[in-house]
Amino acid sequence: MFATSEIELDQSALAQNLKFIRSIIGNDVRLSSVVKGNAYGHGIFEFVPMAEAQGVDHFSVFSADEALEVTNISLNKSSVMIMGYVGPDELEWAVLNDVEFFVFEMGRLKQAYEIAKKFDTRARIHIEFETGLHRTGFSKSELNQLVSFIQDKKDYFEVLGDCTHYAGAESIANYLRIKNQIKKFNKMDRWIRNQGITPKFKHTACSAAAISYPKSRMDMVRIGILQYGFWPSKETFIDCIKHSESREDPLRRVIKWKSRVMAVKEVDTGEFIGYGTTFMATENMKIATVPVGYSHGYSRSLSNQGRVLIHGKRLAVVGIVNMNLLIVDVSECPEAAPGDEVVLIGEQGDVAVSVASFSELSDQLNYELLTRLPRNIPRTVVKN
Ligand SMILES: *Cc1c(COP(=O)(O)O)cnc(C)c1O
Repeated sequence: MFATSEIELDQSALAQNLKFIRSIIGNDVRLSSVVKGNAYGHGIFEFVPMAEAQGVDHFSVFSADEALEVTNISLNKSSVMIMGYVGPDELEWAVLNDVEFFVFEMGRLKQAYEIAKKFDTRARIHIEFETGLHRTGFSKSELNQLVSFIQDKKDYFEVLGDCTHYAGAESIANYLRIKNQIKKFNKMDRWIRNQGITPKFKHTACSAAAISYPKSRMDMVRIGILQYGFWPSKETFIDCIKHSESREDPLRRVIKWKSRVMAVKEVDTGEFIGYGTTFMATENMKIATVPVGYSHGYSRSLSNQGRVLIHGKRLAVVGIVNMNLLIVDVSECPEAAPGDEVVLIGEQGDVAVSVASFSELSDQLNYELLTRLPRNIPRTVVKN
């Protein structure tokens, strides 16, 4: 394989994560697997069949291009739901292919109606409410207009759901805001039901909400980061395990992103390593270069911060992450030699490394780094 790094996706890790998620949400709540951002960098083409093999039959994406990828690879004719952007030319494709989509303003609803009418079919919609995120969604003042439009054109819509999204359920700092959103959502949901509109699925929860706010689970949850084996935040992790007997992490990383040592080198005390002066050797050191840099998706913000695994040891990235390579302090791992496996994300032996699992780096970096993994890194599915 011609590549400086590769990605392995672990089928059994995914099975374990889904089992854990189902144990949390119970049997009556539907699971929608969120695969936007190229399945959080895992690769839609590899990940969707893996999830389908575990019984997942509903996928959520951000935009129509991603929905097209899911429908192209899906073996089981799973449902696909677009939560964000659908271009004017794409809406017709979505309607004609039974792709579900959020509606959050009258414009899209009207367009969907025009298309459904033209082809004498039904648009499969999820009504999104504005409950406090202040991003997209119908506000209370628009509900009258929304409801009468749908009532009027009943034959052209299948109202599959009503939904909202929370403003940071992974942080306790947002507790009151989230509680208010749940209340507001339920009120709006009751109101449209009283008007005779009966969405099949009420759904509001992302990973963090599903863990920390049981009332947010409703009829369906939209789970992204958890299924891949990462926590939305440390707070969410602690919130989850404080109720369980075992303090062990119930999740396993599905992804293993690995490369190899390119070269090793000795550096004397007092020398600077890499470009500039960000890292000085304060003792005699041994370093290893790894042919992965920011152009391959290893964020420059991990300069002097990142950790990688070599021979089952967690080792520090030293100096600035370059375009095509990074440098690791292997002083504690004197056996390191060219060709040795380097794990950038995932497990090696008994140790695991994720991006935000060390220092005070933002948890958001997990999301960002994963989704920026280039599409051209070869991906294979394994069973460990
Ligand atoms: C991304 C996203 C999710 C999933 O979020 P996770 O934190 O990865 O579980 C759910 N709902 C919406 C609207 C999203 O955009």
